[in-house]
Amino acid sequence: MKRRDCLGYLSSLAAATAFGGGTRQLFASEQAASGLKITDVRAILTAPAGIRLCVVKVSTNEPELYGLGCATFTQRARVVQTAVDQYLKPFLLGKDPTKIEDIWQSSWVSSYWRNGPVLNNALGGVDMALWDILGKRAQLPLYQLFGGKSREAVDTYRHARGNSPEEVVEDVRRFQSQGYRHIRVQAAVPGLATYGAKSRDTAQSSEQANRDTKVWEPKPYVRFIPKLFEHLRHELGDEVELLHDVHERVPPILAIQLVKDLDPFRLFFLEDPFSPEDIGYFPMLRQQSSTPLAMGELFNNPHEFTGLIKDRLIDLIRVHISQIGGLTPARKLAAFCEYFGVRTAWHGPGDVSPVGHAAHVHLDLATPNFGIQEAREFSQEEQDVFPGCPELRDGYYWPNQRVGLGIEIDEALAAKFPIQDEPPFDIDWGNLRRADGTSTKP
Ligand code: MG
Repeated sequence: MKRRDCLGYLSSLAAATAFGGGTRQLFASEQAASGLKITDVRAILTAPAGIRLCVVKVSTNEPELYGLGCATFTQRARVVQTAVDQYLKPFLLGKDPTKIEDIWQSSWVSSYWRNGPVLNNALGGVDMALWDILGKRAQLPLYQLFGGKSREAVDTYRHARGNSPEEVVEDVRRFQSQGYRHIRVQAAVPGLATYGAKSRDTAQSSEQANRDTKVWEPKPYVRFIPKLFEHLRHELGDEVELLHDVHERVPPILAIQLVKDLDPFRLFFLEDPFSPEDIGYFPMLRQQSSTPLAMGELFNNPHEFTGLIKDRLIDLIRVHISQIGGLTPARKLAAFCEYFGVRTAWHGPGDVSPVGHAAHVHLDLATPNFGIQEAREFSQEEQDVFPGCPELRDGYYWPNQRVGLGIEIDEALAAKFPIQDEPPFDIDWGNLRRADGTSTKP
């Protein structure tokens, strides 16, 4: 063989090894080495507290080895169920559940279009379940796999509310007497529907719900809230940490005015002053106020939050973990925040399942730049359906010592709490109007 031919032969052999048979061989040997396979992926819908929860169960070929994850997008629960059962399951069957990062990356692009709430929640549920499997296989609580405890327990906040400032004071004192040091305060604005007033009865038909629209006006709200805080500080003193959620629903310039008016009352944080569509206003707000800002429960896409963090325009990140795709992206986000002095405050109301709250606790224990955790008390029905709910005591979430996420599901009992299909949505979302009839953000 001439020298030129020989070099050509060798280079074509190298290319074939790199991009052809050699690659296939390596992939096959990796599969064979693990021996663990995903045998089932299933969404479980249940509502033990009346809120539509979605939990994903990933089973493996090892008897009794399975994982749970939260995929709760309560407003569109059945769409998430379809994404899990009809699309992620066939994509994941036979794959190695210990390859968590690879499964996340490949599942994420498996739909080509990505970063929406339905697919992110479905993927988030699978991702948490894979971490749960890894913890069970390693016989370690997840916080150990995340680097071990940075703290012994997770400081939390609860929601106080009322139809008047006096009722809010009473509710704050109730939580203080239970040991809480951080309390979010919301109050009904007289004459208006509002976040903070008592919820409406959801036991009605879609048609009734659609007729039952409510009125919301921003100006009375931004006049009322500083008065509420003046009353709270007068009655409660300076020590209690107070939080407030604007809920993204006032025009941006009014939100800036409100935050400036609230500066004297030294909030622990003010939440979601702008909607995701208005985050361009953060630089203006930051220059005018030193009230700590928390943002992000509606974020889906990293492009929505990376700029706010790197430019140090917020103080706490508040994404809904399953909404961004689960523990894998949440761990990266927390680490990214650490370099910019931003702390975590994961979204944790009733529309996160107890499985999701367990995931929060493991992440919060291990994250050095943890800020605070929104908490909830689990009803007896929830504790029965989900044995191993995080314990809430003295204002802290305490982890149990079980491996993985440390929480289980009693599927037979979960089936006794089916989700409500009529109406299949939360009636307040989309049925809020300005006085002139204009649709407004809830
Ligand atoms: Mg909120």
